[in-house]
Amino acid sequence: MKYVSTRGHMPPAQFCDILLDGLAPDGGLVVPEAVPTVGSDERERWRGLTYPELAARVIALYATDIPGPDLEALTRAAYSPRVFRSPVVVPLTRLDGRTTLVGLSEGPTLAFKDLAMQFLGQVIPYVLERAGRTLNILAATSGDTGSSAEYAFRGKPGIDVFMLSPRGRMSPVQRAQMYALDDPNIHNLAVDGVFDDCQDLVKAITADTAFKEAHALGAVNSINFGRICAQIAYYFWAWLRATDDLPPAARRSQPVSFAVPSGNFGNVYAGHLARRMGLPVRRLIVATNENDVLDEFFRTGVYAPRPRERTLVTTSPSMDISKASNLERLIWEVLGAHEFASRWQRLAEEGRLDLGDHRSRLEDEFGFVSGSNTHGDRIRTIRTLYERTGVVIDPHTADGLAVGWRQAEAGVTTLVMETAKPEKFGDTVSEALGADTPPVPPHIRELLARPQRVREVPDDVATVRAYLADHALPAARADSPDGAPAPRGQDLGPA
Ligand SMILES: *Cc1c(COP(=O)(O)O)cnc(C)c1O
Repeated sequence: MKYVSTRGHMPPAQFCDILLDGLAPDGGLVVPEAVPTVGSDERERWRGLTYPELAARVIALYATDIPGPDLEALTRAAYSPRVFRSPVVVPLTRLDGRTTLVGLSEGPTLAFKDLAMQFLGQVIPYVLERAGRTLNILAATSGDTGSSAEYAFRGKPGIDVFMLSPRGRMSPVQRAQMYALDDPNIHNLAVDGVFDDCQDLVKAITADTAFKEAHALGAVNSINFGRICAQIAYYFWAWLRATDDLPPAARRSQPVSFAVPSGNFGNVYAGHLARRMGLPVRRLIVATNENDVLDEFFRTGVYAPRPRERTLVTTSPSMDISKASNLERLIWEVLGAHEFASRWQRLAEEGRLDLGDHRSRLEDEFGFVSGSNTHGDRIRTIRTLYERTGVVIDPHTADGLAVGWRQAEAGVTTLVMETAKPEKFGDTVSEALGADTPPVPPHIRELLARPQRVREVPDDVATVRAYLADHALPAARADSPDGAPAPRGQDLGPA
């Protein structure tokens, strides 16, 4: 499997070459040259696999430069019962006759990002060790990415994490998950600004390629293809489990729809790849909150990223995004490489891109439909589901369920992606449930009580650069200047 850039100026590269960076050297996004397919016979054989085994099969189709047995060891470690609270890793819960919840949030930070990040937490050290390299991960978070990356890489030799978060703009649980970590390779920098300011700092610092290379900076943001391909696995898993009870003849090709709470378009883009790989997916239902740039795109064919002043603060904050980074991959696919090249340029010039006559293909050919929600929709959905079933969901999942219900079709089960656990966003859940709000679980109370450790920094490139220059691991492993692999667990030099 080779990867190319949406912008067309990257020599084809292999999985391990593109893993440490989301962005291609030409500023585009890396995409697989061709999407692999899985036939229905093979898919049926996958029914007996455990989650780590299935993930290894799916990822193997994309990471063809990693030997299969190695991948199996990596996914076994990533999805071990020590990390995920559910023994099946991704449990499904029937909500009503037509709707099932897909439990993607059983990991250590109670959000779906753990599923991709725990895999990166295994595969990146593996690749670095083979190459005798170190990595300094520089990233920005609005809350969930930061904690899942920190839990995935804490204590990993040869890797330091520098996480920029917007000071005072995350939920108390999100804050505690990050700032209560005391591993020396985790650096939390709270920026005096909003998420977009943090993102801009990362962009400004990594745009300086000499600095980036000197300090071995890499990224694990939502455009990282390693994350995307790990996410494809749970679409296959969810389909297999949702169809297990059907008669063998019917289940082979039984279509389901997925409702996906969306922001940067990373999660549902993985669903799109699963569908192109042959998984019987009828609809990919893209759900947004009031920041509805994706809903606008799928309804009208116009992609118009918004300036940060127009990004609203909502009660599903992990979806408060007005530029959906991964959408470039889909638009590249819809337009084709050639037409993409001329029209993407116009997006930069005019601030909007009208897919025009391609719009109907988004639904007819690719299966996308969409919808957006208000705070009231979220509250009502949490309440209604609780009254009907006793199941409590978080506000992001409620955005997915609300649109899933609206877009329901007779005879097609909708699988709703649970992108976070309700205890992570307790305020909104208790607004919805009042006296019925479940008590704060002991592990959350204990987490909130732990001492927190964070460095406050101004929204200033020079300050963050200086911090990195002082604290980043040296680019080559301290004990192997000639690039030979360093033994595991060894002290790798000053932090
Ligand atoms: C990150 C996140 C999303 C959005 O996922 P994308 O891949 O960016 O579309 C939705 N819900 C929660 C809880 C998240 O953390």
